[in-house]
Amino acid sequence: MTEHIITPAENVFFRMRKIVKQYYLGDEVMTVLRDVDLDVQEGEYLSVLGPSGSGKSTLMNIIGCLDLPTSGEYILHGQEVEALDEKELARLRSREIGFIFQNSQMLQRMDAMQNVELPLIYAGVRPRERARRAEEMLVKVGLADRLHHYPNQLSGGQQQRVAIARALVTRPTLLLADEPTGALDQATGRQIMQLFRELNEDGHTIIMITHDVNIARNARRVVNIIDGVLTEAEGEVNFA
Ligand code: ADP
Ligand code: MG
Repeated sequence: MTEHIITPAENVFFRMRKIVKQYYLGDEVMTVLRDVDLDVQEGEYLSVLGPSGSGKSTLMNIIGCLDLPTSGEYILHGQEVEALDEKELARLRSREIGFIFQNSQMLQRMDAMQNVELPLIYAGVRPRERARRAEEMLVKVGLADRLHHYPNQLSGGQQQRVAIARALVTRPTLLLADEPTGALDQATGRQIMQLFRELNEDGHTIIMITHDVNIARNARRVVNIIDGVLTEAEGEVNFA
């Protein structure tokens, strides 16, 4: 692994150069990401804004090391991602990245605490420490009085908060969220956006994917993606 370590510039979280993603369907080649260049600094709050089918989730999967690009360079925390094997990728993911997927769901037969403790079990954290950290995270997302509620006893917004707590409990450096408010009513969506802002102020790097310009505006920096082409948003982004 050592020979692939590249000295990163100060505070660079990751760097992408000319990232291309293609899918092969029979004889047809479908290009989903086209020469994407993207640099993200530690502590940034970035939104990727684009319509349905523009390549957002594909990009998120590559950023999160769940998928590899067809070509291009991706360096995450000084590490050339392409050079890593499955085991190293899994370790990088569990150490660095918290995921909130488009349809993040709680596991049905577990209460809020058990859902949030799950990634800590995989990380080999001992029971008492697991419980302490899960409770701390649930308090942080505003669910102090719902620790032992099951999914069917929680609203959609509360379940989304549990998913956020679960993504953050391992203390990832990067939070990757794909349409985190997509399934929520506006008021709950606003609360989640407030929570993201607080998390960013606490030092978490956040990348939020959305098709909604009003949601994107919550981030400090917005990039647009259309038909697999990524561009920096023009003009002032007025985050309230
Ligand atoms: P978004 O998240 O912006 O809606 P996606 O990244 O999910 O877009 O998809 C971008 C395009 O890539 C879509 O046209 C989709 O059909 C296609 N696509 C995504 N995943 C695959 C796959 N595994 N195989 C073939 N095509 C795919
Ligand atoms: Mg998507």
